[in-house]
Amino acid sequence: MRFEVLVVGGGLVGAAAALGLERIGYSVALFERAVPREVRGRLGFDARMIALAPKWKDFLEGFGDGAWHHHGQFERLLAWEELGTAQVSFDAVDVGAAQLGFMASMSSLQTRLWQLIEASKIDMRLGEPIEDINVGVDGITLNAGSEVQGSLLIGADGASSRVRDLLNLDRDMRATGQSAIVTVAEVSEHHANTARQRFLHDGPLALLPLDAEDGRHLVSIVWSQSDMQATRRAALNEQDFCAELTDASEGCLGEVRAADERFCLPLEQQVSESFAPSSRTLLLGDSARVLHPLAGQGANLGLEDVEALLEVLKSHLSDPGADHHWRDFSRMRGVRSKSMLAAMSFFRQVYAIDDPTFSWLRNLGVRFVDQFDPIKQLLLKEALGDSLLMRITEKVKWPS
Ligand SMILES: Cc1cc2nc3c(=O)[nH]c(=O)nc-3n(C[C@H](O)[C@H](O)[C@H](O)COP(=O)(O)OP(=O)(O)OC[C@H]3O[C@@H](n4cnc5c(N)ncnc54)[C@H](O)[C@@H]3O)c2cc1C
Repeated sequence: MRFEVLVVGGGLVGAAAALGLERIGYSVALFERAVPREVRGRLGFDARMIALAPKWKDFLEGFGDGAWHHHGQFERLLAWEELGTAQVSFDAVDVGAAQLGFMASMSSLQTRLWQLIEASKIDMRLGEPIEDINVGVDGITLNAGSEVQGSLLIGADGASSRVRDLLNLDRDMRATGQSAIVTVAEVSEHHANTARQRFLHDGPLALLPLDAEDGRHLVSIVWSQSDMQATRRAALNEQDFCAELTDASEGCLGEVRAADERFCLPLEQQVSESFAPSSRTLLLGDSARVLHPLAGQGANLGLEDVEALLEVLKSHLSDPGADHHWRDFSRMRGVRSKSMLAAMSFFRQVYAIDDPTFSWLRNLGVRFVDQFDPIKQLLLKEALGDSLLMRITEKVKWPS
């Protein structure tokens, strides 16, 4: 059977890519291990909450009714550090926006997109292993001897991408020595629609606002820290964990009263050597690059990949893998990813230096940024997907 596009991986990024392509008329086969299911913990929310820029609400809603649901939003972002007095705040009004981001449940978004996929013409291939990939001049064959062929193959199968490995692509991989404890916590004070991030010596702690219907004050927690501390804290009883979390958050939302099940995720940063190793093969989302979650950008960048893909294929091409469109795609997505990776490494390293003089300098810098609106606006726009670097890169004429 021949399809125009084969997508491997039906997470948020792969599902959005498959739907977007089907909506503009491509025949698509989607390979996924298992049908996603919505997850809710004891406090009523998925522990895997992600912060998404507002533009992705409209983007996903464009796939059909019910594609989007959010569980909170933030109009303000506050960041400060353990060893200092300065803080920086970013407000949606500074960039003329109603909000800086939405909090969405990963499992809920995936399930919603999956329902639209089931109602679409996409050929779903559940649990079919990917054994080998044969890239020919005219197209791709998956699993030698099988009947599945395509003009373009998209790997969206996450950080441990099988597609990337089968295509023998190198990746620049950097262990961070950190893990994140991810959970939902009940606190005693309302979050006031503000996302908070405290840079601790051991790693950043994020408290992100959730809306509970029964009026409880809930926040999503992403607490990056050394592997050793994460293992220790994941094993604490709830009361002791809450006490440490109250302390680590400096009581910025009062006392932490309860914490849901804790998930301990090792953190790594990596980027593939290419996002388009040939005109017939692309990588999107975490299969192309994985970022430290300190700026909550991984899924945002994955959806940007999908947006860029759909921009190239927006007018239906008879052979989406035949031309050289993907060279520019690979270069642009590479620039965006590497600049984000460098920014994440910079912040992580700068905040890990435990020296009083350096801390004083950091605080001076933070105060300067907080008082200098043009820099704040630039940083905000970058995070919201309106990247100055990308706009400059687009304008440069690159030799082909
Ligand atoms: C602690 C933490 C907090 C984060 N917070 C944020 C945030 O606030 N904002 C943000 O933007 N990002 C955040 N991220 C990053 C974000 O979660 C990822 O970037 C995003 O989930 C990547 O989506 P994906 O679809 O590319 O990959 P995945 O979500 O990994 O999906 C891959 C899919 O491929 C399937 N698959 C894998 N192998 C195969 C195979 N061989 N065959 C078929 N199917 C396969 C899997 O079943 C899965 O469904 C965070 C990450 C972490 C670790």
